[in-house]
Amino acid sequence: MTGVDLGIPRVPGTRTAPDQPRPDDPALIDSFGRVATDLRVSLTDKCNLRCTYCMPAEGLDWMPGEDVLTDDELIRLMDIAVRLLGVTDIRLTGGEPLLRPRLEDLVARITSLRPRPRLSMTTNGIGLARRAPAFAEAGLDRINVSLDSVNPETFARITRRDRLSHVLAALAAAHEAGLTPVKINAVLLRGINDHEATDLLRFALENDYHLRFIEQMPLDAQHGWNRAEMITADEILDLLGAEFTLTPSPVERGGAPAERWLVDGGPHEVGVIPSVTRPFCAACERTRLTADGAIRSCLFSTTETDVRGLLRRGADDEEIADTWRDAMWGKLAGHEINEAGFAQPIRPMSAIGG
Ligand code: SAM
Ligand code: SF4
Repeated sequence: MTGVDLGIPRVPGTRTAPDQPRPDDPALIDSFGRVATDLRVSLTDKCNLRCTYCMPAEGLDWMPGEDVLTDDELIRLMDIAVRLLGVTDIRLTGGEPLLRPRLEDLVARITSLRPRPRLSMTTNGIGLARRAPAFAEAGLDRINVSLDSVNPETFARITRRDRLSHVLAALAAAHEAGLTPVKINAVLLRGINDHEATDLLRFALENDYHLRFIEQMPLDAQHGWNRAEMITADEILDLLGAEFTLTPSPVERGGAPAERWLVDGGPHEVGVIPSVTRPFCAACERTRLTADGAIRSCLFSTTETDVRGLLRRGADDEEIADTWRDAMWGKLAGHEINEAGFAQPIRPMSAIGG
């Protein structure tokens, strides 16, 4: 089975944005006509797992503590984003966001911002089982839990930690707490867990979780990504097709990265995010803030704009908002993984915020 084109236009590659002045618009517009309304905030670059496709066994040199934005600094920037820049959705990520101290308090402060943003989090789930009700109480709307295998040995092989039971408990607790739909993000690795794709989907269907497979991207700290080894979206669909009948979902995709498929006629669906083989850059609505206060217009940007310095120098809200607008105006057309000369960003995914 091969994928169908679900209608998101692609853009030809270019390493530079057109050189034209930024129009006077309050929103986070770029020179290709996109508007960023979805903010990804990385809360820390630290993690308690060591997924092989993300970071090395020994971990990384974590950011110095004084570089990491404080809760007050994060709230100030998120307030500017929703009040002055038109951001409507915020996703907390990392590294592992649950490692951030007093995260429940930060969530409550974010959901008190006006206009109130929709708030979600991407997490590995370690420690979530106990905390899910408090996050729901603080106003968190939805959660994505990363899970690449429901087999304990495979899980430990990928994450280098024996923690599958913690993640399964986290999923159940998030569902119970009403953080629904509970989504699962899965990455398939050739010869490691690709034979378990249907097990993951069966598990998701049985428990009412929404499963999305993500193509592996060249964002690992070790620079070990190899295109030939990557399991493509079409391969994922073939693997699932061995046990399930997939038909395109009638739901409009909009700016969402996942191609959605009805499983066995529905209503359950599975998503595939073909970041590499069918990039969705032309419909991208994202802007990013790293834990140490840099604005990034793309996961794959090779440049970024510091706002921590502005904050700590006492800049006013309008100056910070304008700096953010300038950063987004220069957003490139696409990530160009598929072009000759592609350069992986210096920061790995865990330090950008996945
Ligand atoms: N630690 C949290 C987690 O694992 O959910 C949040 C950060 S993690 C970087 C966010 C997501 O990025 C996870 O679903 C993870 O599987 C995915 N990810 C990490 N490295 C990746 C890569 N090289 N290619 C594709 N997805 C990746
Ligand atoms: Fe940690 Fe998430 Fe990276 Fe795994 S993917 S090592 S859980 S940051």
